[in-house]
This record gives sequence, C-alpha cells and structure tokens, in this order.
Amino acid sequence: PAVPVGSILRAAVRRWGDRPAFVQHEVPLSFTELGRRAHAVANWLADHGIGRGDVVAVHLPNLRQYPAVYYGILLAGATFSPTNPLLPPADLAAQLTDAGAKVVVTLDLVLPAVRALRAGTPVETVIVTGDAHAHDLAARLELAGDEVDLADLLGGDPTDRHLDAGLDPAIDLAHLAYTGGTTGVSKGVELPHRSVVTNVLQSACWTSGSVPARDEAGDVTLRQVCGPEEYPVRLGEGRLINLTPWFHAMGAIGYLNGMVIGGTTTIVHPRFDPVVYVGDAVRYEVTSIGGAPPVFVALLQVPGIADADLSHVRGVSSGAAPLPVPLIERLRQLLPDAVIGEGYGLTEVTMQATGNPSFRSGTRKPGSVGVPVFDTEISIRPLGGGTPLPPGQRGEVCIRGPQVMRGYAHRPAATAEAIDADGWFHTGDVGVLDADGYLSIVDRTKDMLLYKGYNVFPRELEEILFGVPGVAGAAVVGRPDEEAGELPVAYVVRRDDDAGAALTAEFVMAAVNDRVTPYKRLRDVVFIEAIPVSAAGKVLKRELAARERAAAS
Ligand code: ATP
Repeated sequence: PAVPVGSILRAAVRRWGDRPAFVQHEVPLSFTELGRRAHAVANWLADHGIGRGDVVAVHLPNLRQYPAVYYGILLAGATFSPTNPLLPPADLAAQLTDAGAKVVVTLDLVLPAVRALRAGTPVETVIVTGDAHAHDLAARLELAGDEVDLADLLGGDPTDRHLDAGLDPAIDLAHLAYTGGTTGVSKGVELPHRSVVTNVLQSACWTSGSVPARDEAGDVTLRQVCGPEEYPVRLGEGRLINLTPWFHAMGAIGYLNGMVIGGTTTIVHPRFDPVVYVGDAVRYEVTSIGGAPPVFVALLQVPGIADADLSHVRGVSSGAAPLPVPLIERLRQLLPDAVIGEGYGLTEVTMQATGNPSFRSGTRKPGSVGVPVFDTEISIRPLGGGTPLPPGQRGEVCIRGPQVMRGYAHRPAATAEAIDADGWFHTGDVGVLDADGYLSIVDRTKDMLLYKGYNVFPRELEEILFGVPGVAGAAVVGRPDEEAGELPVAYVVRRDDDAGAALTAEFVMAAVNDRVTPYKRLRDVVFIEAIPVSAAGKVLKRELAARERAAAS
C-alpha cells in the first residue's frame, strides 16, 4: 500500500477512539490520546528541524509513552531506529553512529550513561523520559541545554499537520532496525514505509481473520471477514499483556502496530515477572497471550498456574524462536480453548514471512511455522546455492516479498550476499517445505554442529528433550573435540516438580539417544538454573558455546 505508517495510526484513532490502547500501572491511554500525543511529538520534531531523512533513535524499554514517540517520529517523516536498552555503552555508541542518529530518546535512569558516550556520535539532542509518568521528570533531573523532557513534547500542539504527506512510501525509510546479533555482528536493516505497512497488514490479517481495507479518509485498516467461530477474538475486543520488546521486529510490527490496527488493549509490562503476568492475565481477562517460547516455558512453571482463571484466553501466538511440539502440548492442556499459532520471520523481512494458520481456519500442523503470509514466496535452496529444491528436501529458506528489506545500511557487500539478483532473501535458516507448502524450520545454519563431518541440528535434539518428563527447558550446543570436531551437549533446566528433581544426566541421555541415529547422540548433559535468553527471547547459544570452548581450552 502506498501510504506511510502514520496512516495506520490515523485510521486506528478514528475507529477505536476512546478505547484504551495502552495501560501501564493501571493508567490507561486511549487511542484518541495516543494520536494527540503522537502528533505533538511529530510537530515538536518538525519545529526543531527533524524530518525526512533524519534518524531518531529510541533507547527505551517498553513504556506507555513509547508508542507516541514511535508514531511521532514517523508522522514527522523521520526514521525510527530502536536500540536494545541493555546494550553495553560501546555497542550503543557504535549503533547510534552507524545509524547516524541526530536525536536519541532515552530513560532518565540511563541518562548519565548516554551523556558519557555521546561525544563522537552524531547525536545533537537527547529527549528524556521517566519510567511511567513522564510529568514528574523535570523535578528530579537537571537537564542540559540540548536535553529535553519528553513531557514538553507530549503536551505540545496535537494537530495533524500531515508532515508525512511528502514521503515516498516505497523509498523513504520508516525503520532502521538492527538485527538482534544473536549469532553475530548487529547490522542496520533498512525498511521503507511500504515494507512496514505491508508486514503489519500481512501479520494482522493472519491473526485476526481480516483483509486490508481503507477507511473513509483513505487510511489503512482491517476488515474482518471470518466469523466468531473461526476467530473468537474480534477486532476492537482483544486484551493482551505485552512482553515483547518494541525495539525488536516482533515487538514493533506484531505487538505495537498489530495491536493498534486491531484495536487491542495492551497492558504494558516492561519486565517479565511470570507471577505478576499471570495475576494481570486473570485481572484484565486477557484474550490473547503472545511472545517468544521462553515466555511460555516460564509461565508453565508458575506455581498454581493450572488453577488460575485463564478462561478468556482464546489465542496464543509464538514467534522469534522454535516452539517445540511438547511445549505446544503442555500449553494445550493448560488452555484447551485457545488456538496456538506460530509465526516465523526475521528483522530483514520486517518481521513475518509465514504463519501457521491462525485460530480455526486452515489446517494446523504443530511443529511447522505454516504457510507464507500474503504476497510472499518461500523457496528452499541448496546450502551452497543453486536452484530450488523439491518438497521434503532440506535447504536454506529463501524469502521474496514486499516486506524484504531494502538492504543493510552502509554494507553493500553484505546486502548483495543476502539478497540475490531475483530479489530472494537468503535467511541462513535451514528448512523444509511439505507437499502442502507448509514450512518447518530445521535450525539456523550458524547453530548447526559438525560431528565427524555429519551435520547435527540441535533443534532436533531439543524437540526430544522438551518431551522428557521433568525437563522445563533445554538447549544443545557443540563441545569442541579434537577427534570428532564437535560433540552434542545438552544444557537442561529441571522442572520444579518431582520428575524434575529426579532427573539424572544418564536418564536424559538415554531418553534422547534411544531415538536418534548414533552420530547425533548427546555426549553429556549439564544441568543449569536457567537457559540464557536475549531480550527478544532467543536462546543465547553463543554464551553456552563459549562456556564449552572455555572448558575445553
Ligand atoms: P542475528 O541474525 O543478528 O544473529 P537475531 O537472530 O536475533 O540476530 P532476528 O531477526 O531477531 O535476529 O531473528 C531471526 C531468526 O529467528 C530467524 O533467522 C530464525 O532463525 C529465528 N526464528 C524466528 N521465528 C522462528 C520460529 N517460529 N521458529 C524457529 N526459528 C525462528
């Protein structure tokens, strides 16, 4: 669609009006108020010379004021570049410099750190906010001349000056998003407005049984076409607790824009406390639960979870990392009325490329990440390159569609390596299509182990581990070995029950090794309190692998 991202907000404000959009610390912010604040931010930026072609970095955890900042930047015509608030200072400085950020929006608590690293970055202005209530900030902080309290922006002129009218949605960048860096160097991903709007629609249509539509003013919205039997969570009626960081693709597309376009009320939890989460899920009668698989692992461990009244939950959506089938089974036992959906994607394709048919339409295939979202093609190619492989054969997952990035910022060689001449993006994930066109992710090529020249995919072993009684979580990495190259080793978290307490390494190894061909066998099991995960919910295998390398040397 040839509209800028601001169009999503304009239609949502018109359609959802006084309904709460975001709630934090029990303070609601309506869609109307979100619109007013976003325009106020946009107008302030424009009045201070920030617009088309300028990058504004947002260095914040999820807070109620984040969405107004996000839309404000885009309505001003500038580019939103989110950073992980837990980035070490040197990495943050490098990212701000790589992005060419003129403005950074940050939290009062980290202002001293941002001040210390600013010199040498292109940052000219710092906008500062407090945890939940931006308004009492000035009283607590002495701001320098080029530092501004976000409250000053939010309280400004709220009229829509249509500052984004001159943008070319196919070219002008909405997001300059950085890859998670789970496996390597973080790279800037250039996403024009058209990619962002398209992927919001591709994703939201999938989760709500809708088709894209225009409202009376020509702004972009959804028209629900499936009935309540198929899609019990109706547009404008959903309630969800959001944990997914908005600085991550899944957060910005699925859990910020996706909630706004669908009229969902989002309860904002900046930190994940599983017990608080369950309490709020009951209190707010949430209709949907979403996030990365470690969220579900943690929720299933909450004492008394089976007795909590989660009867309003109709949908569970998972993404960002593999959702093991045994975990789906446990979720199904806990939430028998909910439909469990899974999406797959990457920062380089804005967010989403495929989805397991959501709610009750389409054939659901547990363990698969589903079929392409609309206007998207998937092909499987040999790992070293070549023509597409037939169904049933493993190879690299390649994606083509309007959500594919324009390229990596300042990295033409990396861009040319990732996107071929025909527009296919090569993901670095190993996958397989079945005869019905359903995709399954086997593993990431970077996580693959090499045992005596054989490829071992940790994910296959993890699937089995998740089904072993007493196992709450698991991750498999390689242990360097002179003779074999790498030996598969499992890190296992015990469940908080008798079966968990009784687990032994021998039992776990036997349970897995009886079911796999000999070269894939686990050679050791290490029990661990918690598997290290990134803020986006991805297992940080490099941390576990580094432990193995350190132990070996
Ligand atoms: P980097 O690529 O820099 O290491 P990252 O992996 O954190 O960082 P993202 O774009 O956040 O970057 O993650 C994309 C990856 O997440 C995909 O390539 C894939 O390996 C994995 N992924 C996402 N969704 C799923 C899913 N449903 N099942 C399996 N893997 C998934």
